[in-house]
Formats: sequence, structure tokens, C-alpha cells
Amino acid sequence: MAIDKKLHEIFDFTITADDCVKCGKCIPVCTIHKVNADEVTSPRGFIDLLGAYKRGDLELDKTAKDIFESCFLCTNCVDVCPKSLPTDMVIEQARADIAQKFGIAWYKKAFFLLLRHRWLNDIAFKLGWAFQTCGFKIQSEIESMKPRFNLPMFKADRLLPSLGKTPFLNAHPENIDNGGKRKVAVFIGCLGNYNYRSIGESLLEILEKLEIDAFLAKKQKCCAAPAYFTGDFDTVEHNAKHNIRYFESFGDDIEAILVPEATCSAMLKIDYEHFFHDQPDWRSRARVVMSKVYMATEWLENHTELELLLAKKKRQTKIVTYHDPCHARKMQGIYQEPRNLVSKNYNIVEMADPNACCGFGGITMQTERHHFAKAAGVPKAAMIKQTGADVVSAECSACRMQINASMSYAGNEKTVFKNPIELIAEALRA
Ligand code: SF4
Ligand code: SF4
Repeated sequence: MAIDKKLHEIFDFTITADDCVKCGKCIPVCTIHKVNADEVTSPRGFIDLLGAYKRGDLELDKTAKDIFESCFLCTNCVDVCPKSLPTDMVIEQARADIAQKFGIAWYKKAFFLLLRHRWLNDIAFKLGWAFQTCGFKIQSEIESMKPRFNLPMFKADRLLPSLGKTPFLNAHPENIDNGGKRKVAVFIGCLGNYNYRSIGESLLEILEKLEIDAFLAKKQKCCAAPAYFTGDFDTVEHNAKHNIRYFESFGDDIEAILVPEATCSAMLKIDYEHFFHDQPDWRSRARVVMSKVYMATEWLENHTELELLLAKKKRQTKIVTYHDPCHARKMQGIYQEPRNLVSKNYNIVEMADPNACCGFGGITMQTERHHFAKAAGVPKAAMIKQTGADVVSAECSACRMQINASMSYAGNEKTVFKNPIELIAEALRA
């Protein structure tokens, strides 16, 4: 579907509602419908209600808020819809109206404030690192921790990512000279910067082996995906404009901006353009600058000799199963590239449905509606266990957080999570 038609539909929910032929193909694949089998929490139901809301036939009350906040934004429905109706995007727009009417919970506002100011984020995470053992039991071998007691947002049985002492971006110089003729920038994302730091370390190792210079984009701000999915459009505008200006300032000096994170790269590459639908200047600036943004495996596979380098390395004994993040496969068409690279040195065993959403769903789903996220994670954890794999891999730290928690609920202690970039670096080291 042409992007302009899509954009037009997003801002007139009645067009989307009128275009729905009620075929129901979206219902069996819908992540929320699988755990809450009710027509109102299905793509067809959401679209119908949004059409009624736009026509003035539905009041945006607490019940409507609860319904629209129950979508995982996984895009499974868009994938199978014969009319390619952008259910996820119309819901994102409706959530901005919800945020305006009901306000945003204090803890989300505090979190989004941190996402706007990286220096503040650095201080908060440093304090968090120093005091995390007071409230959490650290399970460092899987970079995870559990609350020592039930907290307002997190129950004591919940596995969460632990914090590192030094953020990835502060641990390295801005320019890393690998003696190469090529240069790329690295956009690491927040979970990669503060929690799962070995992803960035591994990416730097790979670039060094390929003799490609690296520019660590230290002034990057959060891509703002958590705020976008929650309807906090002020934070999205603030961070998106900053990142666009910042990328423009160094864009001519680099070949590509590598992002080892599906959600961040989809936000930068696709959602910024949608977000600026009514600001044509910013929309075209986003389109130009984001044309250099790639998922890390996508660029490494298509633009370097990495496969040849890996082919010279020995095969590993670890069995790997690969989960397709919604923001990689369905939004960006990236699924073959990580498999091509990882399969050079590891045996890949496919799980029953690698494209099924893991159930992360965003900040609201991970806090107020965690019972849905927990229920949606059960089938994914079972699929992983069934493969008997040593490692489950996905190029997405949001999936990592959710899948680690789901495997912990399922009692799967055998399988560890690794980003494909970490697996590739390990193979190169051997
Ligand atoms: S985006 Fe996912 S959870 Fe939301 S309606 Fe579509 S399939 Fe269901
Ligand atoms: S698949 Fe598309 S057209 Fe069919 S019911 Fe779902 S949203 Fe409507």
C-alpha cells in the first residue's frame, strides 16, 4: 500500500473502519485476542470502535481506554489483512487522544522525562546500579534480576533486566579508528546502552574485524518508541527532532547508521515519517536522514564480507532458535539476514512459529496490563523449550526482556537469550 494512502487512513479512522470487509482473517493471529477472546479486543473490533469514536458515536471513557490500551501493536493483523488496514497505527493515534483526556501516569511521565534527557538518564541509572541490590536479587549470568518483594509495578516473581555500572556509550571514545576506508555510526538504543551492553561491545568487535571505523553517536536520544506507543507525542516530537538534526550533522561522514535493535530501527526508519505527517519539512528531513538507518544484521549481511569471514571460523556446538521480532520481520522485512549470518557457525532449529509476537507490547502492557503480557508470553516460551535450543536469539532487547521473563515463568533454565550480534562476535572470537 502506498505510504500516502496509509497516512491518509491513519488520520481518518472512519476510512479504515469503512474499508474493513469484516472477513475476520485478522482474528486468529491477533495477540490480544488469543489471551482475551472477545470481539472488542480484536483488530476488527478495534477498527469498528475507532470508526464509531471518530463519528462521535462512542465516548472515550475508561472502558474504551482499557480496550485501546490492550493492543500489543504487534502488526500481526496488518500482515494478514487483505486490505492492509493499519490497525496498529490508528490505535497509536487513538492513544494520543487517550493521553490528552486521561493524562499519563506519573511513573510513565517520569520515565519519559528520563528518555528526553540522556544526562539525567545516566544519573538515574547510576543511582539505580548502586542501589539495585537493595530491592532486587541479581542473577547476573543472564543479566537479569527479580524484585525481593512485590513492588507497585512489578511482582516479586518477575524477571527484569539488571543495570550495568557504565552505560555502553560512556565506555568508549566517540570515534573508533579500525584503520579502515569505511565508516558507520552506531545507534545503540536505551536497553543496549544501560542493560544489555554486550550487544554494543559485540558490534564494535565485529566492525574492528571488518576494519570498518565506528562513530559512536553519543548525543543520540531515545528513539521515543515507548512514548509513541503510550500516546506521549510531545516526547516523540522532542526526541525525533533532536535525532533528525543530530543525524544530519554527521550523515555525510558515514555510510550507514547501524541499529542492533528492531524496535528502535523501525521507529527511526518508519514511524518518524508517519509521526511528521502534518509537518512536511520534518517529514522529508526524516525520510532523507533515515534512509541511512539499517538493522545491524541487515547492513552487515548485505554490505560487508562478514559471511566470508564467518565461513573461515569453526562451527559452534550451541543450538540456536531464532525469534522474529514484530518490528523486524513484519515492519521491515528483516528475517533472513540474521539467520544467514548466525547459521554460518551455529545450527539453527526453527521454533513452531518464530513470527508469533513474544507479548512485550510496550510500557503499559509491561506494567498495568502485565497479566496480558504474561499470558501472551506462555506460548512463545513453550515453543522455545520444545526446540531444546541452548540459545534463543532475536535482534531486539524488548523481546529479550519479555522472553527472558516468559522462560523464567516456564522454568526454562537451559536456554539463554543472545542478540545475533553477540553470537556473531562469539563465533569470530573462536
Ligand atoms: S496489532 Fe497485534 S494485538 Fe493489536 S490488533 Fe493487531 S494483531 Fe491484535
Ligand atoms: S483482516 Fe482486515 S478487512 Fe478482514 S476483518 Fe480484519 S481488519 Fe477487517
